[in-house]
Amino acid sequence: MSRKQRRQSRRESGRPPWTIDSVYGGGPGQTHIPLYSTRLVGPNGQAMSIGRMQREGEVDCQIDTVAIASRFDFAHCPLCLAVVPGTDEHVPPENIGGTVMTRTCDDCNNKAGGRTEPELEHWWNDTLVRARLESTLGPVRGPRVAGNLYRRQTSDGEPVFALAGKHDSAVRDILDHGGDITLTFGLPDRARVFAAALKSAYLGACLLARRVPFTREAEAVRAALRAARDTQKSEPLSLRGIDFDWWIARRPGSIEAGRIGLERVRVAGEEPQYAVSLGGALLVSWPVGGYLVGSDRASDRILWIDSMGANSR
Ligand SMILES: [Zn+2]
Repeated sequence: MSRKQRRQSRRESGRPPWTIDSVYGGGPGQTHIPLYSTRLVGPNGQAMSIGRMQREGEVDCQIDTVAIASRFDFAHCPLCLAVVPGTDEHVPPENIGGTVMTRTCDDCNNKAGGRTEPELEHWWNDTLVRARLESTLGPVRGPRVAGNLYRRQTSDGEPVFALAGKHDSAVRDILDHGGDITLTFGLPDRARVFAAALKSAYLGACLLARRVPFTREAEAVRAALRAARDTQKSEPLSLRGIDFDWWIARRPGSIEAGRIGLERVRVAGEEPQYAVSLGGALLVSWPVGGYLVGSDRASDRILWIDSMGANSR
């Protein structure tokens, strides 16, 4: 198709051009803007706001900070306990607000990170993965690779998809021609989302306590994380042995790079719970067991009793 014909068909599609007026988003180390909010302006000056999706099950809660962690290096890799750690570790992953907070061994850092953390970032960003688009109209036949798509919504609740990475250039032709467009996609791998969140939360908990815990839950977390580290990306992962109640949630607001906190989370009508806040982006329920008894603000350490009954700090 010649350039002239393409222009012609664009005009016939009758869809007016919109321009991006402002974009708010991004974080340290990010290669694509994750679009927390965007404002578009139409040909007649009308505005359209696009923001993050309202997720099912998200509830209002009050969050009070009990303690804040600071960088700390352990004598052994806190994940496998096996070797002297030699690699800088971002907690949480850098793309969701992590900074270097400790050191882990090469294997735990690179393998466990590479095999699980992209899935957590996709979950956090509401990303549809391996997307393909196909249209009944226009010159492009068959499905074309759209790559990753950010799922967003307008202020009226209409769904919006934003191309978030490498994609076939024909995808733009498909979108220009309209017609009935079929979108197929995958969702982030749930077990790997949870494994990556558990890794960050466990490391956050170690940093808050400034020690590697030896509770029953902590042993189970380390075993599950070693399994995640040693499971190829092509193989299914299961978090066997993690039989305690825990949850992950996106923290409201925007990324606060490098902030790891222990938070008391209150939902109206429920008992308060404790959670580790990671990069201001993510909340994971306190994952390593033990009963918190307070905090020492002067040293930023938390005081807790582990499940063996030993009072420790
Ligand atoms: Zn290790």
